[in-house]
Amino acid sequence: METIYPLRNKRIPIIHASPDTIFFGDYPIPVQISSHHLAWFNELSGDRSAGHAIKELLAQHGQEIDHIEYAAKALISHGLKSAALLDLHALPTLARWTGEAGSGQKRAGDPTASAQTHAQLVYSDSDHVAIAQLIDLRAETPIAIVGTSPLAHQLREIATQENWQVTTSELGAACVIFVSESHPDVCDHDNVLGTRRTHLHVAARHGGSVIGPLVTPGETSCLRCAYLHARDRDPNMPQRTIDWRNSQRFACTDPHISAMSAHFALLVVRAWMDGWDMGDTAWEASLPLGQFIPTPRPVHPLCGCKLGKSPTHLD
Ligand SMILES: [Zn+2]
Repeated sequence: METIYPLRNKRIPIIHASPDTIFFGDYPIPVQISSHHLAWFNELSGDRSAGHAIKELLAQHGQEIDHIEYAAKALISHGLKSAALLDLHALPTLARWTGEAGSGQKRAGDPTASAQTHAQLVYSDSDHVAIAQLIDLRAETPIAIVGTSPLAHQLREIATQENWQVTTSELGAACVIFVSESHPDVCDHDNVLGTRRTHLHVAARHGGSVIGPLVTPGETSCLRCAYLHARDRDPNMPQRTIDWRNSQRFACTDPHISAMSAHFALLVVRAWMDGWDMGDTAWEASLPLGQFIPTPRPVHPLCGCKLGKSPTHLD
């Protein structure tokens, strides 16, 4: 605990379950707390180590020392797990950088602290240091967005506003998002099959949208697999693809479907960055409510995109 510099993150509220039991925001484990401990907890400002802060608390009490120390350590442990506390010495790099000129209080209020809060709640198995590294990884992983349609511009705008690393170079990107706007089932990009990078296909038109598959070459199904499955279902797919692609300059996607597609695509990429398995799936949405529903995108036996992999990887 000597190496942890706890800082109260006011974005996580204290919710009283009873006079001496609280929850830290959404954190599911109830925590026993006295009013004295609560006041002490709320004043942790990152300016001294947890060990030092606990000694100060003990100095205010003459008795029941063991009990007080145990309760304080539990508070710090649950505080870090729930993001009700941040460790000033293990904040994401971005938060340290933006908060340099400010006080501890100001640091807790920067946008990275809310990202940390969110990640801490979703990845409750990780410790607070791993969470800070996850936030850094998200901030440092470059993506490229390929396409000139309104949806592609909207994606770029949202990603930039949300502090993503958006690069114009496909070669410098860890993940490339290909945006099509001729039809949800049609890919407008011929070069997509040649890319060796992880890529996500995002396609929309009128009131429909398909996000995915997220392709990691050699590991997951690809866009050729998706095309071959579509051709199996509809022998006219080759002609339909040409007809739709010829119409793409008249792209007209519902603005809400377009905005939701942009946000959802970025959520898929962020989950992939965080280590979730997002392959072999597409998410389809349509009006009136536009919920994204997962559908399987299996490998096609004639595609060959998994050639070179051992047979155990074929399915
Ligand atoms: Zn394939």
